[in-house]
Amino acid sequence: MQVHDKLYINGQWTAPAGSKSIDVINAATEEVMGRIPEGVQADIDAAVAAARAAFESWSATSPAERAAYLSKIQEGLKARTDEISRLIAGEVGMPLKLAGMIQVGSPTAIFGLYAKLLGSFGFEEKVGTSLVIREPVGVVGAITPWNYPLHQIAAKVAPALAAGCTVVLKPSEVAPLNAFALAEIIHAAGLPAGVFNLVTGYGPVVGEALVKHPEVDMVSFTGSTRAGKRVSELASGTVKKVALELGGKSASVILDDADLAAAVKGTINACFLNSGQTCSAHTRMLVPESKYEEAAKLALELTKGFSVGDPFGGQAKLGPLASAAQRERVRNYINKGMEEGAELLAGGPDAPEGLAKGYYVKPTVFGKVNPNSTIAQEEIFGPVLSIIAYKDEDEAVRIANGTPYGLAGGVWSKDEERAKKVAKRIRAGQVDINGGPFNLQAPFGGFKQSGNGRELGRFGLDEFLEYKSLQLKPQG
Ligand code: NAD
Repeated sequence: MQVHDKLYINGQWTAPAGSKSIDVINAATEEVMGRIPEGVQADIDAAVAAARAAFESWSATSPAERAAYLSKIQEGLKARTDEISRLIAGEVGMPLKLAGMIQVGSPTAIFGLYAKLLGSFGFEEKVGTSLVIREPVGVVGAITPWNYPLHQIAAKVAPALAAGCTVVLKPSEVAPLNAFALAEIIHAAGLPAGVFNLVTGYGPVVGEALVKHPEVDMVSFTGSTRAGKRVSELASGTVKKVALELGGKSASVILDDADLAAAVKGTINACFLNSGQTCSAHTRMLVPESKYEEAAKLALELTKGFSVGDPFGGQAKLGPLASAAQRERVRNYINKGMEEGAELLAGGPDAPEGLAKGYYVKPTVFGKVNPNSTIAQEEIFGPVLSIIAYKDEDEAVRIANGTPYGLAGGVWSKDEERAKKVAKRIRAGQVDINGGPFNLQAPFGGFKQSGNGRELGRFGLDEFLEYKSLQLKPQG
């Protein structure tokens, strides 16, 4: 049981202004595993004031100085990998080994990536007679979700600090313990007071206070499209910059010449990772009509291999979902799919055998899904795959683009050039060609209602920078 009764504000562990707390629940046991402060407006005010006061000197540090801090944070995360992996496996439910590799490995790498990038990033450029300078946006409010909690924090905090911004972080109330570990690491790295601040609490209270705050220059938000719309509305009051990373309903388009077994396997892996609680999950598998039966059979067989169980047991491929609310939501969608006439090929709404406790659901595959039905249109955020048959390539592209989202996707073909052509027609920010791997140096973000920001690599650093032109008087 990890109890935190202080917030990290102005370089110090500070008593919160309110007296309430929030319980953090272990996804597998349903027991309380931690407690954090339920922040209030006054905590946000204090944190923003600290970030504002720290901005002038932090923004004037050299890229090399900032890189040295980021490297120290990277080392701190590395040293605490085992402990933080256990925290996230408990909070989110991802199997421990995977949690170590992904949930801690990725954020550690992100801090390293930005430390390195600062060595070569061009903050100044001569354009005609002007000197164009990249300057930090200012005070950043970072609001993050629970599914890859520390990855999403790192994807904001590392580039914001690299840019010379100061930060107030409001992590998810569902998986916040890892953020306290990060704050401890940042403190130990000796970051100047006020440069990084942590305030926990509920979105509609502290999240909204941060978004509305006139002294916050930019909000970087990752979460649901519903909350993202609210953030946009509230931020407009002070015309602050807003970067949104929102939901998805990504399609994996398997073309008729693809290696079907590899494509189905790749799609299912990209759908079920983290029990489907991945914004870029490939939740719609589009197959040519002529290959439908074979693809459905392969999907059914592969799904049997996705054992569900204790994230700390070492055997299970899938752990529980993160919360009771999430389990409820996913079960409702599975019921909805059955009501709407999709063919249930695997899984279903009942708890997996022997797992009545913990927020477990069965990996579920629906066949013959109507592309306009609810389960093919809305983000489920659970291990639920919809197989959709298409007539020809144009129809496949139309279906792939036929939701309000546009975050990610995949295209499978023996002919890489053909796959690339189809990928270019998909209105989404990231498309995997034949299962191409996730790359921290490439931009990640959405088209349409999946958002408007880009994270990771140098593109993620750009988000936290403004342009300034110095108009020089031509010589001679
Ligand atoms: P959520 O929108 O409920 O919450 C996300 C964060 O926003 C939390 O910290 C929450 O407290 C806060 N929040 C909620 N309402 C708010 C409000 N009115 N004002 C300000 N802050 C508010 O999302 P979630 O359930 O934590 O996460 C799952 C969602 O996140 C899914 O839709 C998923 O697709 C999306 N997601 C997107 C990406 C991406 O990069 N595009 C990555 C991961 C998750």
